[in-house]
Amino acid sequence: MKSRKMTKQSAIDRQPTTRSGECVDRARSAHMALIRGRDTKPEMRVRKVLHAAGLRYRLYDRGLPGSPDLVFPSRRIVLFVHGCFWHRHPGCPNARLPKSRQEFWGTKLSANVERDARNRAALEAAGWSVLVIWECETRDPRRLASLAEEIRDHPTMRK
Ligand code: ZN
Repeated sequence: MKSRKMTKQSAIDRQPTTRSGECVDRARSAHMALIRGRDTKPEMRVRKVLHAAGLRYRLYDRGLPGSPDLVFPSRRIVLFVHGCFWHRHPGCPNARLPKSRQEFWGTKLSANVERDARNRAALEAAGWSVLVIWECETRDPRRLASLAEEIRDHPTMRK
């Protein structure tokens, strides 16, 4: 990363910020966010807590179904940080459909839910444990702490 040549503009954008507790390359994270809601605030909250708990992970493994947000290879765990609206968090107020164009949204979001289920099935078939934390849960420190505990206590695999 450090040796990469930078254009003037990207040098300007490359001001690290510690607002979310991690050093963030703004230009890169803006680009990633465009691709698929990456490095979102809920994800950063989760990553901050898990990292502080000593857990190490890979991000967005495109070799796995659904490109899981976090991958813990030695424990064979994947973690998705799901937006309540886009992934239809059951019973969550944030998952309510907008009043207009309900049919459009219903169809679109149902497709997301079906895709999530297919990805989960494929991951589990390949021996992965699939964890999900919902966006609304990422504001709850106790929930984040129990998630860190769950991952830490998961048996690790030896090669
Ligand atoms: Zn929710």
